[in-house]
Amino acid sequence: MANLVILTADELKALHPLERQVSRRAARQQPLVRLILQTFLEQGGPIPLEYVIAASPPDAHADALHDALVALDEEDVIRVRAGQVDIAYPFAAAPTPFRVRRSGGRDRYACCATDALGIAPMIGEPVEIASSCHHCGESLKFGATPHRVGLDAGTVMVWFGKRGDEGCKAFDSLWTTINFFRSEDHLRAWRDANPSAEGAGATVDEAFKVGHWIFGGLLTAEGT
Ligand SMILES: [Zn+2]
Repeated sequence: MANLVILTADELKALHPLERQVSRRAARQQPLVRLILQTFLEQGGPIPLEYVIAASPPDAHADALHDALVALDEEDVIRVRAGQVDIAYPFAAAPTPFRVRRSGGRDRYACCATDALGIAPMIGEPVEIASSCHHCGESLKFGATPHRVGLDAGTVMVWFGKRGDEGCKAFDSLWTTINFFRSEDHLRAWRDANPSAEGAGATVDEAFKVGHWIFGGLLTAEGT
């Protein structure tokens, strides 16, 4: 049997590379990033760079904005491809295995399990998260409020895989490294089948705290 370490949110937050989230959090509080996140929330993505520039304050110079967008891409706060922002964590423009539904049936896609858990705290609204067990593929669906996951999350667990290459873009590997599992048994079964995977497990409640820590308040009045 492979060893499975179960960590708390505080223990996870102390781990590399999650510590990098502290500097990214500061970056996400910039008006430019909040504009991008708000646009993803309201309209979905991808977002053409011309739109971001046109929606920015009139005193902002296009060259400076372009440089700022390039810097945000390099910091892995957003991803720019073919003149469009196609990822702005927690949002991905393309469908992912992590669907987040707002009231009224508006769907957005998150980049990984933690990002999905961070959206309700980020926008200050309840959402429904739909994903699947990374072990058996069974669909998982549960609610989350800005403060906690719903009781319907039950025994769901999250695996925080360690990324092999810190230099690569998070999104290229997040899907396979931060995932939901139906239960601790399913996480253990997957772990036994993947003994070389580096990382740790957490209950969905503790994983939610990590998502809250990364994204909480960014698009709410308290976050300004
Ligand atoms: Zn399963």
